[in-house]
Amino acid sequence: GLTGNKGWGPLWRSPAPKAEYDAIIIGGGGHGLSTAYYMAKNHGFTNIAVLEKGYIGGGNVGRNTTIVRANYFLPGNSEFYSHSLKLWEGMEQDFNFNAMMSQRGQIMLCHSDGQRDALVRRGNAIRNQGDDAELLGRADVKRLLPYLNYDSARFPIYGGLMQKRAGTARHDAVAWGYARGADQRGVDIIQNCEVTGIDIENGVVRGVQTTQGAIKAKKVGIVVAGRSGQVAAMAGMRLPIESHVLQAFVTEGLKPCIDHVVSFGMGHFYISQSDKGGLVFGGDLDFYSSYAARGNLPMKEHVMEAGMALMPMIGKAQVLRSWGGIMDMTPDGSPIIDKTHVDGLYIDCGWCYGGFKAVPGSGYSFAHLMATDQHHGPAAKFRLDRFRTGRGLMDEEGTGAQHN
Ligand code: FAD
Repeated sequence: GLTGNKGWGPLWRSPAPKAEYDAIIIGGGGHGLSTAYYMAKNHGFTNIAVLEKGYIGGGNVGRNTTIVRANYFLPGNSEFYSHSLKLWEGMEQDFNFNAMMSQRGQIMLCHSDGQRDALVRRGNAIRNQGDDAELLGRADVKRLLPYLNYDSARFPIYGGLMQKRAGTARHDAVAWGYARGADQRGVDIIQNCEVTGIDIENGVVRGVQTTQGAIKAKKVGIVVAGRSGQVAAMAGMRLPIESHVLQAFVTEGLKPCIDHVVSFGMGHFYISQSDKGGLVFGGDLDFYSSYAARGNLPMKEHVMEAGMALMPMIGKAQVLRSWGGIMDMTPDGSPIIDKTHVDGLYIDCGWCYGGFKAVPGSGYSFAHLMATDQHHGPAAKFRLDRFRTGRGLMDEEGTGAQHN
C-alpha cells in the first residue's frame, strides 16, 4: 500500500500448458495448490501443472469462514489435524507470505451436563494427541465472552472447551501463498483450464483432456472438492460423496468485539470477527445435493435465529453478504486421500465442511502419496475402501458446534 501499488507484478506466471508433465494436479483450490507446493518442495517434482477450471481462489478456498483448529476426537482424524495445525504455525515463514494466521482461540460452548461430559472426553483425547485443550466453567466463559446471552432458560451456558492455538487465517492469502511458492519452484499454474476427460490405457493413467487441449502425464491427482464425483466419474469411479451447499454470512465492519472463534452447542451457529471488522458466521448445510454455489432462505433464517439466541447483540449488525460453496460430503464425515484402481491416478477429497484447516496437512500428505506411492503416516487412515468394506470408518462428522 505504501508504494502506491507501484512495481507490483502478478504473484505467479500464466504459462501455456506443456504437452507433457511428470504430474498433473486437477483443481487449483487450497488442497491442489498445497499438494503442488509440497511435491516440489519436499519431493523435487518440478515438472508439474495445476489445472484450474476457473481462477485461483474462486472455489471453497476463498469461500470458507477460515477456521483453523486441531480438536478432533477420533484416531485417524486427531493425528492428521494435529499435523496440519503444526504446518499452519510455520506456514507463513515457510512460503514467505502473510496469510494473517491468527491463533485467537476457539471456544466450543456446552449447554447441558451431557454436552460438558462430551467436551471433557474430547479435551482429554486432544491432550493425549499432544494438542492443547482447556475446559472452561460458566464464569470463565462469561469473562471471555461477556456478550453472550447468559439469561437464556432454553440454552443455559454451562461452560466450554477452548483451544488457544486454534484461530483463523486469511483464506485467499493461503491460496496465493501456496500458488506463489509452487510457481517459484517451477510448477505451472494454469487457470481457465477445465479437465474434461482422463486418459487411461490398460489400467494406467496417460494424461487428461482439457479445454486447452490434451496434456500427457505420468501421474494425475484429483483434488476438486465439491466436483469430486464428476471428475472421478471421468475415470469410471463412483465415489461415496454427495455435494451439498454450505452458506456463510458477513456483517458490516464493526469495532473489535469478538476476540475468539465461538461455536454454539445447541444450534448450528459459529462466529468470528474478521480483521476488517465484519462478523463472519455460518451454520449447517442446506441439506439438498446441488452444484450451485449459493444457498437458500430457510437455512439463512435458521442461522440468524441461532445467532440471536446465543448473542442477541448481533441483531443490531447489518448483514452485508451471504454466499455458498459446494461441500464434498462423505458418509462418515472424514476425508479420503488414496490411490485409485487406475495406476498413477490418485484422489484427495471428502473434506466436508472442514477442509480449510486441512489445507497444509492434506497437501503435505497427498504430495507424499503421489510422489512415493506410500501413504503418509498422519493421513494413512483416509482410505477409500473403508466405505466398501466398512472397516476403518471414522464417524466424526463435524456436526453442530464442532463443525468448521
Ligand atoms: P476448492 O477451492 O473448491 O478447490 C477445488 C478446485 O477444483 C476449484 O477451484 C474448482 O474450480 C476446481 N475444479 C473443479 N472441477 C474441475 C475440473 N474439471 N477441472 C479443473 N478444475 C476443476 N473449512 C474449515 O476448515 N474451516 C472453516 O471455517 C470452513 N468454513 C467453510 C464455510 C463455507 C461457507 C464453505 C463453503 C466451506 C467451508 N470450509 C471450512 C470447508 C473448506 O472451504 C473446504 O473443505 C476446502 O476449501 C476444500 O478444498 P479446496 O480448497 O481444495 O477446494
